[in-house]
Amino acid sequence: MKKELVIVIDFGGQYNQLVARRVRECNVYCEIYSYKTDIEKIKEMHPKGIILTGGPNSCYEEGAPTYSKELFELGIPVLGLCYGAQLMQLVLGGTVEKAPVREYGKIMVHVETSSPLFKDVTPDTICWMSHNDYISKTAPGFEIIATTADCPVAAAQCMKDQLYAIQFHPEVLHTQEGKKMLHNFVYHICGCSGDWRMDSFVEETIGQIREKVGKGKVLCALSGGVDSSVAAVLLSKAVGDQLTCVFVDHGLLRKNEGDEVEAVFGPKGNYQLNFIRVNAQQRFYDKLAGVAEPEQKRKIIGEEFIRVFEEAAKEIGAVDFLIQGTIYPDVVESGLGGESAVIKSHHNVGGLPDCVDFKEIIEPLRNLFKDEVRKVGLELGIPEYLVFRQPFPGPGLGVRIVGEVTAEKVRIVQDADAIYREEIDKAGLNKTLGQYFAALTNMRSVGVMGDERTYDYAVALRAVNTVDFMTAEAAEIPYEVLQRVMSRIINEVKGVNRVMYDLTSKPPGTIEFE
Ligand code: GLN
Repeated sequence: MKKELVIVIDFGGQYNQLVARRVRECNVYCEIYSYKTDIEKIKEMHPKGIILTGGPNSCYEEGAPTYSKELFELGIPVLGLCYGAQLMQLVLGGTVEKAPVREYGKIMVHVETSSPLFKDVTPDTICWMSHNDYISKTAPGFEIIATTADCPVAAAQCMKDQLYAIQFHPEVLHTQEGKKMLHNFVYHICGCSGDWRMDSFVEETIGQIREKVGKGKVLCALSGGVDSSVAAVLLSKAVGDQLTCVFVDHGLLRKNEGDEVEAVFGPKGNYQLNFIRVNAQQRFYDKLAGVAEPEQKRKIIGEEFIRVFEEAAKEIGAVDFLIQGTIYPDVVESGLGGESAVIKSHHNVGGLPDCVDFKEIIEPLRNLFKDEVRKVGLELGIPEYLVFRQPFPGPGLGVRIVGEVTAEKVRIVQDADAIYREEIDKAGLNKTLGQYFAALTNMRSVGVMGDERTYDYAVALRAVNTVDFMTAEAAEIPYEVLQRVMSRIINEVKGVNRVMYDLTSKPPGTIEFE
């Protein structure tokens, strides 16, 4: 069965991933491609619709990202968003220039509800604007379908050619009826029926994996995180004990995490796979002794992880396939999909392969966003506490301990973090908070306990609210919850005599500590 596809053409906008997610939330499959993608390739994919994203450039400037006019002549509906809207107008003969008044933030927009794009939208609706340039004259054949106090062309359409341009960002949640507009575009303009569903994804993927793997042997590096767990379960459903999972306990996991992973995937767990747990805690502590610099710590942990995995893999012998829990944002962030700059190279995308003897990599989640991976996980019957696990960095507690990592400090931060998470759960805050964890600062200070002087560490509690992890605000946790956590940590965790709450947002902070 050929799936309906909508393509997002990326002009370097901040929200490109959001655009694709929103389309998929409408049950229409969507992928992101760079504006450098050849038109022939786009034609071959037979998309039902094309969306052009925003971008930081001014489209009228020399060398600004562009696309050939042919894109608008394919007979495929095109929706331009912000930069994409401006570019569409410019390429088709309109005028774009620096706006007398730039618009940023939530702006009241008046829309023509007779347009199919704004069907069922309130005539005066709040939208998210972020632009310095504006469309001062629309291209021939276009009519204006939205305006704001400062923006004469907040949207325009050429219905006969199925071309739509909007200056604001429907993909951003601040645009109150943005989802409806995107829904209108994919259903009423592109004519999609919405055939992208998670249950069919699971079924289809299992079938494809069976066909590909045959009687082959499959190896998986299991971290216990959501992505690798879901990938492993998918594979085990498809090929059973042809799969071996290697789980490296590097001693930098959260409290009891190693045992929890083993309980689910090990011999007593629910799946018929071969499970190997390598207890390499001491090996990692030895390598990390005396190292305080965060990047160096990350490198050491990453390299040692590969060495340990490699040794385990050697014992298994040659395998045919290696599975990785790569997900779509990893692909886009690594610069393989869209146009945004390479932010970080993921250890998921290239990294392990060169050290293991295998024929091919399988990445069953490569096209999914995180929330979709979670849906697949639930579909597969993976326990909720694993599916909704807090994001956890690859180097683990290594980057939540400021300064040198020792077994003692790991114990302190594990215990403090476990108390913090427990209290957050009890207070019913776990579903509303973005991410929360305890970190160990490298600060020791004087205190008094039981009439005796102490000279112990300070634990920092962090909790942030974030939609996309690009920016974040420190969360407001009720004072009595913080107090309870503080008092339990001081009482129950030896080596701590001070608890602080981190108020820093991102930027200038990061979500993690190092
Ligand atoms: N750079 C263009 C402008 O300032 C487009 C901005 C955008 O896509 N958000 O108008």
